[in-house]
Amino acid sequence: MSTGMSTPSSVLEDEHRELVGSFESFIRRELVPLAAEIPESGDLPPDDMRAYARSRSAALGFYAGDYPEELGGSGMPFTAVVLLHHAAGRSGCPLAPYALAGSDGPSPLLRNGTPEQIERYLLPLVRGEASRCLALTEPQAGSDAFSLTTTATRDTGSGEWVLRGRKTFVSGADKADFTLVIAAVDGQPTAFVVEAANPGLRLGQRYDGMSGEPVFEVLLDEARVPADAVIGGEAGVGNALGNGMDNLSRGRLVVAAMCDGIAEYALSQGVEYARERRAFGERIGAYQHVQEHLVSSRAEIEAAKLLTLACARLVDVGTESPENAALAKLTSSETAVRVVDRALRVHGATGWVRGHPLEFLYRYVRMMTVIEGTSEIQKVIIARSMGLG
Ligand SMILES: Cc1cc2nc3c(=O)[nH]c(=O)nc-3n(C[C@H](O)[C@H](O)[C@H](O)COP(=O)(O)OP(=O)(O)OC[C@H]3O[C@@H](n4cnc5c(N)ncnc54)[C@H](O)[C@@H]3O)c2cc1C
Repeated sequence: MSTGMSTPSSVLEDEHRELVGSFESFIRRELVPLAAEIPESGDLPPDDMRAYARSRSAALGFYAGDYPEELGGSGMPFTAVVLLHHAAGRSGCPLAPYALAGSDGPSPLLRNGTPEQIERYLLPLVRGEASRCLALTEPQAGSDAFSLTTTATRDTGSGEWVLRGRKTFVSGADKADFTLVIAAVDGQPTAFVVEAANPGLRLGQRYDGMSGEPVFEVLLDEARVPADAVIGGEAGVGNALGNGMDNLSRGRLVVAAMCDGIAEYALSQGVEYARERRAFGERIGAYQHVQEHLVSSRAEIEAAKLLTLACARLVDVGTESPENAALAKLTSSETAVRVVDRALRVHGATGWVRGHPLEFLYRYVRMMTVIEGTSEIQKVIIARSMGLG
């Protein structure tokens, strides 16, 4: 952080300090100068910059770093991946998150794919050469994601599958090389790969989100896919949940880490400003109401970071549980929303102006309490683990 604060959690980060340091220097050297060219009209980097960040990061071994070497990754422990996401958020560079695998990158569903699916779909994702999207949510099935009305039926003549339905809020659907579609086969969720060129798959309504990131309806109008489009082959029929379970904890912890980093960046902005800005003859950082914003933020961030890192370590030793990842995701995303809000307050009107990093983060960070399950759904998971509900 630019404030030079030493943090208790830095003790836990020592293990991967060299890796994180080289990722940070990649961000500084290559991504920050590129991000300076993001057109002022848009909040988010254009597609070509994102694709560059992804493939360059893959070439350097950061992108999809936890994938094993035989699949093109670097075989990093998950804790290292979490620290990289943290570093991306903390950098304040709008391109940095795209240098790490997210919802458009390699999917654990495909890790359970057939050897052909791994070769054809997973490996280009790990190398950062392709992108995909996940079409799960439906207009009437969001948190209750598996009450699906999208169906897949087998054409007994050709053996092909025919997909019918409407998905919504799909990120990256406009640029994905293929879509992972979750559809019900005899009522059971099943994952299919549908390539972008499939004439039965088309984009519907585009929704522009608060941070400028669009999400899309994906319409499946009798989309015919070959028999081998079921992820995992015959064993994958009715088994989308089993195949993807592993991702829930990892996906949530990656979001938690990004949130911890964003919160740290926002706090550093707040502290810096409070040290410089003067009012009533004093630096505003001397006023206790301002200190309260910053000190409470610091305490909450440290707690969130420690929880995220502890959960990541549980993943590495194979003892993670869904409620731990839910605790971390809930804590870190809600902390980041609060911290960005407080840092904005400390900036007065200055932070509210378009083009200020906190103005953007205020809109950007809010989605973190929705993606990978809303905060309320994290609480449902935690409550269940407590024997409630
Ligand atoms: C930026 C962004 C990107 C997204 N990308 C994708 C994507 O790529 N692919 C995809 O398939 N989907 C995507 N989504 C959709 C996302 O997964 C859903 O929005 C999310 O699961 C919530 O569903 P919903 O919006 O329908 O809300 P609902 O499920 O209708 O929930 C509405 C409210 O009710 C609460 N609620 C619901 N059930 C319960 C309960 N049991 N207990 C307590 N509270 C409850 C929720 O927490 C929420 O506050 C994206 C959404 C966003 C915002």
